[in-house]
Amino acid sequence: MKEQINQLSAYEPGLSPRGLKEKYGLEGELYKLASNENLYGPSPKVKDAISEHLDELFYYPETGSPTLREVLSQHLNIDADRILFGAGLDEVILMISRAVLTPGDKIVTSEMTFGQYYHNAIVEAATVIQVPLREGQFDLEGILQAVDDDTKLIWLCNPNNPTGTYFTHEELRNFLSRVPNHIPVMIDEAYFEFVTAEDFPDTLALQEEFDNAFLLRTFSKAYGLAGMRIGYVVANSEAVKKYNIIRPPFNVGRLSEHAAVAACKDQDYLAQIRERNAHERDKFFQIPESRHFYPSQTNFVFVRTSHPHELFKQLLSAGCITREFPNGVRITIGFLEQNDRMIEVLRQFEYDE
Ligand SMILES: *Cc1c(COP(=O)(O)O)cnc(C)c1O
Repeated sequence: MKEQINQLSAYEPGLSPRGLKEKYGLEGELYKLASNENLYGPSPKVKDAISEHLDELFYYPETGSPTLREVLSQHLNIDADRILFGAGLDEVILMISRAVLTPGDKIVTSEMTFGQYYHNAIVEAATVIQVPLREGQFDLEGILQAVDDDTKLIWLCNPNNPTGTYFTHEELRNFLSRVPNHIPVMIDEAYFEFVTAEDFPDTLALQEEFDNAFLLRTFSKAYGLAGMRIGYVVANSEAVKKYNIIRPPFNVGRLSEHAAVAACKDQDYLAQIRERNAHERDKFFQIPESRHFYPSQTNFVFVRTSHPHELFKQLLSAGCITREFPNGVRITIGFLEQNDRMIEVLRQFEYDE
């Protein structure tokens, strides 16, 4: 086996609601608010779309997801040959890393960001440069300074998971104008559909100026299809053509493709999700204790504290499973009732920062 695999461990999902109840001796219902899923679920039209295709399960899917490609390219107003689909954005990240990186290459990204950029780079025996965040934000200047002749990929996450912060259109344009244009800049916008900030990048527009800008999105978060596994990259068509050589021929399932088609066509539902989430998110930021939170454009809130495990346990006692980090706790925004309970805990908590 590759020696560098020993540096990594398999993904740790954390305890199940049942496991947590036993470990902490809890009663009553526990809500999973640890993985940034959209608790409202997908558009109701998705169920119908899936039902219509239940008799085709013995067929392989159509390679390259042509039906979804057509619908999504119209929605984004781009050429269809600029999209590559994966079994979740996770697989897209894997395919890009596999296609680009050889041993000794460097990637540049941030500390405290989505873990798969690091993970897949190590598998390819690449070196990972992790620039510290600045106040929970990607430090684009720091990333520019870390770029050198061995840099083969840059990974940005906007808004960032787990902090929820974002950089603006002008900041991204300035960044792209200074990165050597042979280095691909991967811009992961997994939470794009939750964003309400008006100065958030129009990355598709920036791609017209910078063909080394790559845009990554997913149906797992706001579209509510995490269980279906479908994500994508939008890039220049030559790069997509190359990545397509790496892609396993039937990577996106038949039902997943039709689910995503229905979800993509129901933009009214998506707009409702964005609004509801923004409304609930605002409630967290209306309390004075929100000075301990990073600002968020997503469906989660990162709470800073020097004793995250204590906060995690208190939220758990309130029925909410969240995700612990070394310097805080990430809370997925839930339904009204859970949010109110979590806000109650956050108002009482001793942050000690
Ligand atoms: C959830 C997430 C992903 C992976 O999404 P899938 O499409 O479910 O694989 C990628 N990037 C970020 C930043 C995420 O939060």
